[in-house]
Amino acid sequence: MALQPREALKTFFGYDAFRPNQEGVIEAVMAGRDVLAVMPTGAGKSICFQTPALCLPGYTLVLSPLISLMADQVQALRQNGVAAACLNSASLPQERREALYQAANSVCKLLYAAPERLQNEEFRAFCQAHPPALVAIDEAHCVSQWGHNFRPDYVAIAPFLDTLPTRPPVAAFTATATQAVQEDIVRLLALRNPYCQLASFDRPNLTFAVQRPKNRQAKREALLALCRKHAGQCGIVYCQTRKAVDEVCDFLTEQGLAAARYHAGLTLAERRWSQEEFVYDRKLVMVATNAFGMGIDKSNVSFVIHYNMPLDLEGYYQEAGRAGRDGEAADCVLLYSPKDRVTAEFLIDAGFTDQPDLDPALKDSLRDRALERLKQMTFYATTTHCLRHCILDYFGENAPLFCGHCGNCTTNFVEEDATLEAQKIISCVYRLRERNRIVGRSTIVAILRGAKDQKILASGFDTLSTYAIMAEISTHRVRSVLDALIEAGLLQASGGPYPVVEFCERSMVFLRNRERFVVKLPKEPEPPREKRGKGRRQVSFAPGLPQAGGELFSRLKELRAEIASEMGIPAYMVFNNATLHAMCVKMPRTRWELLDVPGVGEVKAERFGARFLEVIRAYEEGGGLPELI
Ligand code: ADP
Ligand code: ZN
Repeated sequence: MALQPREALKTFFGYDAFRPNQEGVIEAVMAGRDVLAVMPTGAGKSICFQTPALCLPGYTLVLSPLISLMADQVQALRQNGVAAACLNSASLPQERREALYQAANSVCKLLYAAPERLQNEEFRAFCQAHPPALVAIDEAHCVSQWGHNFRPDYVAIAPFLDTLPTRPPVAAFTATATQAVQEDIVRLLALRNPYCQLASFDRPNLTFAVQRPKNRQAKREALLALCRKHAGQCGIVYCQTRKAVDEVCDFLTEQGLAAARYHAGLTLAERRWSQEEFVYDRKLVMVATNAFGMGIDKSNVSFVIHYNMPLDLEGYYQEAGRAGRDGEAADCVLLYSPKDRVTAEFLIDAGFTDQPDLDPALKDSLRDRALERLKQMTFYATTTHCLRHCILDYFGENAPLFCGHCGNCTTNFVEEDATLEAQKIISCVYRLRERNRIVGRSTIVAILRGAKDQKILASGFDTLSTYAIMAEISTHRVRSVLDALIEAGLLQASGGPYPVVEFCERSMVFLRNRERFVVKLPKEPEPPREKRGKGRRQVSFAPGLPQAGGELFSRLKELRAEIASEMGIPAYMVFNNATLHAMCVKMPRTRWELLDVPGVGEVKAERFGARFLEVIRAYEEGGGLPELI
């Protein structure tokens, strides 16, 4: 019987089960259906086409935009004992022929190529003669002009597929796609009735925090403290400008940290060197502009610090999201100062001055949109509400108002009895309903606070009995309680991007039974000047997630580094941190027990399992207690 996906997962990748998001995708692919999968970084997209590729007859063609990304995946697959190859312009003709020959004979199961390759006559002829069993398209958002990395070569994929004697199933993957981009992917890649997997953007293992150091000196100290807190772990520090990169990198180096730098002002050779130093864990901290990161698949990044505020939340989330790809707890901290906003505005303007040919009206509208995005980013940097909620809300997701472990939730939320306020708000919605009026949140807040603007007066809302009954309470507070009521289902919000708020069955029960409303609410924001520098936010880890540290973990890491350097591969390709942690917990003694550790497949167990078992045995005999994490 042919290999089944579950078996392939265990044998080659060392995992026992698919994650829920992966399961549906893999079933659909195995059933020959097209797929659109939007899954956040670290969700495990590659497994979704790699395991079917191992089970299907023939080979799978993987289209991916970046050579570095492809090379990284091919190298990682080979470590797991999977035959894979990458066709790129840098490889020798002999190597390319060899790869094609092996794919034609099902020896090579995954053939990676950039979409440009589809224009190559020889390659087209090959695919005509040997059509792939499956076509996987990575970074599928590149096909859309609404996406942020549009690549015209992606548009040529669908016509290419039409030239094949049989059209293989097509699976498209991306980590970022708004609604418009998703529609473009389906249309432009001509997906046929695709199975759609739209996972949440949430990354539960990332802890978000914002710190607002009061001056340059304090910012440096905050940065240093964060780097020290993560001593021995890898991290990225993003800066807004090249100059800042140089200064921050020099500063960290002076402080004795192993830091590298990366920005567009360096030569290609310098950039390549820096990148390698970081990827191979020789330099633990990378200080970089946003030029760094695309195509870096490094899974063991434990923290991403933004030394300056980026231009928008898309950019921020993408950069911060490079932390914790291995699923381990990771910190994402923004060090905000109001000056960052001025620099950001300058950068936005400078971006447009570089394009004198742009139509002035279009330029104005693009600039307005960029400034609007910056406003949202600044809101994130200054809000007292849940940061995770803020991000997910931005991407159009309905997330809880309180995540419980971001920088704001842990320090800014207090549990309060808001019964009286809740009653007032719900009564207001009730009174509105009596007049057959249904309005949005801001109008409700305005009525309760007794606003005197034209809209309120013209509608006669000032004659409601609930008008101005919360005049003494801040807008922020009223809005927070209102949001909490909606989240608790005590009021109902419905319809479009500007939902209206309605009285519902639960509202009535709440009022009638005189229920209490106890809820975690964000504290009032600090007034901008008076209380500045009131002490920094604590950064905390997601509860229940293991942290790095511990003697055995260090020893395993040392061994991993040793093996990586012998083999000339990055350390995380030997085993990732999650796997080393699992070893500390399970303390395997035999090869069988080792195979039970998530991330240990048969080939890796064979290649270097004995050495890891040896370190664990030595540690146990040395009397070290198993690491409790
Ligand atoms: P993405 O491409 O979506 O960013 P990756 O394919 O790099 O994610 O996977 C992220 C991490 O999750 C990798 O370390 C991978 O080995 C691990 N992983 C993937 N699938 C599983 C699974 N079913 N069980 C456990 N770990 C998994
Ligand atoms: Zn939170």
